[in-house]
Amino acid sequence: MEHVISLTKKLVSIHSEHPEEGNSEIAGFLIDYLHEIGLRPIRQRVSRKTYNILCIGKGKLMVNGHTDTVGIGSRWKHEPMGEIEGPRIYGRGTSDTKGNIAAFLSALQDNPTDNITISFTAIEESGFTGIEKVMELRNTKLQNIKYGIVLEPTDNKIVSMCKGKIIFEVIARGRAAHGSVPHRGVNAIKKIAEIIPKLNFYEQNLGWIKYKSLGSPTLNIGKIEGGNAINIVPDFAKISVERRTLPKENHENIIKEIKKICYPLRVDILEQDNAAEALPDSKIVLFMKNILESGHMDTRLYAKNGTTEQTDLLEHGIESVVFGPGQAKQPHRTDEYANIQSLVTGKKIFGKIIRKAEEDPEL
Ligand SMILES: [Zn+2]
Repeated sequence: MEHVISLTKKLVSIHSEHPEEGNSEIAGFLIDYLHEIGLRPIRQRVSRKTYNILCIGKGKLMVNGHTDTVGIGSRWKHEPMGEIEGPRIYGRGTSDTKGNIAAFLSALQDNPTDNITISFTAIEESGFTGIEKVMELRNTKLQNIKYGIVLEPTDNKIVSMCKGKIIFEVIARGRAAHGSVPHRGVNAIKKIAEIIPKLNFYEQNLGWIKYKSLGSPTLNIGKIEGGNAINIVPDFAKISVERRTLPKENHENIIKEIKKICYPLRVDILEQDNAAEALPDSKIVLFMKNILESGHMDTRLYAKNGTTEQTDLLEHGIESVVFGPGQAKQPHRTDEYANIQSLVTGKKIFGKIIRKAEEDPEL
């Protein structure tokens, strides 16, 4: 078996879907692995029992990947802790993102270097806590870092941009009354019902805005709550909404617009992440294009709809792209898999990245 495949299988066999409860097993494995290839990994505490793993390199390039996965879920036909069948390796994390970590580590073992800074983050899937902790070192241990590669499944293609998001709730308050005398109350569900068509209209118009391969922004009303019983006028109702954003959009303006649409109802912003983009002529994009070109591979720039740790890196002035041999459509799916051939190719590309970065004084 190819080393990259056995390493993927090993990483996938270690549970890491609830990193909040501690991640000592996967962290310990990675520390031992990095020690064996002659590096000096350090642990950085993220929460009480959870650690990021870091190796501080001499150069300006940082390779970052998350060690946690989403939950396994149910109804798998294949073994979620790792199974090889035909041209694929199945299991939670094969594509998102342990397979990509394996491809990088396997290449690193064949091309040992202390030039690259390595960051394996602990909590990504349930909030970007791990990378935020790493970025606390931006002005100290990581002050030399200028460029980043974020390990996520991209089918060995360069992803240079991703959408951002604004998650918000629209809350309606009413006054309860008996259902037989509804005029004595104020119906909160009706208030929400009036807002929904307005949001639909807003959503339709988003189709006019476009940005490169990211396409249009989107809006999704994902959840609705309200009411207690059929015979009571509801005094509370709420919708939870997600607005995906483009790099050229301004979050502040979007929030203002949403509040205007939903007026007089209350809008609570729960979470937001900016969209991110590495510019097409930035050093890291050109470096990656060069490497893929030398292997006669697709050098176009692609986009990801979901947010990745690239956003955090870019926000801290680290020009970054997302790249990995895992399959871009596989994250979070039942029977998640990675193509074996793709992982093998990915390992070769990481080998080139490591060697080229060593020769390049800018990296
Ligand atoms: Zn991921």
